[in-house]
Amino acid sequence: MDLEALLQPADLLSARHVLAVAPHPDDIEVGIGGTIALLAERGVVVEYLTLTDGGAGSADPQVAGAGLAAVRKRELQTSGAILGVSGFHWLDLADTGLAQVSDLAKRIATVIRQVRPDLLLSMDPWLPYEVHPDHRAAGLATADAFALAGFPEYSPEDASRGLAPHACPVIAFYGTSRPNTKVAIDAYIERKIAAILAHQSQFSGSEAEFMKSITQFQGATSKEADTRVTVPSEPLHFAELLKVMHRRLTHYNTQAEWM
Ligand SMILES: [Zn+2]
Repeated sequence: MDLEALLQPADLLSARHVLAVAPHPDDIEVGIGGTIALLAERGVVVEYLTLTDGGAGSADPQVAGAGLAAVRKRELQTSGAILGVSGFHWLDLADTGLAQVSDLAKRIATVIRQVRPDLLLSMDPWLPYEVHPDHRAAGLATADAFALAGFPEYSPEDASRGLAPHACPVIAFYGTSRPNTKVAIDAYIERKIAAILAHQSQFSGSEAEFMKSITQFQGATSKEADTRVTVPSEPLHFAELLKVMHRRLTHYNTQAEWM
């Protein structure tokens, strides 16, 4: 790759195999459900890795817990099927507890070495004012795993399971305040909303109506964002935003925030 090509945001649409990592069931659909549907429709293999079991996703103590976790697993499979997701991986860690999991990056690296994606989707751990520790921890650990899964000396016990190192060439951060890529999702907004509302334990009744409204509002707001790249065409109504980066730009790059 020459320098000029390297300095352009990596091309999201050249991906063939995507691994999308989320702290909770529903985070990917809410953030980039339209992008997932677009990629899958283009023939990209899309797999999910969900880090927690989602068991804390209720304020009602009668609902939260193992029973809710089982419900949310089914909801995510239904939601993913709407978008064209073909594989589901789970770490089943305790919801709200990711920041206490010391080997989280190694566990994610193991899945990267199994799936061997050419595009890794991660929550952006550097989103200012993000208060949920699972979101911050998930993003940081995914970035760590992206950085290190290609090194044989990192988590070498994977080799005994027959897993070779894998240096994924591109990472894209969703839930980002520093996007460089705008994805037109006009053709996918209805599917995105359906995928979000498939999480019935999270969004029902007035909350479902609210999610529909805010998804449309955020899509319209994102359409106005100033990004370096727009794919696959200029959006008419709705967009999603990503920070897409070549591996070589993700380490010791003092300009990374603005690239
Ligand atoms: Zn979440």
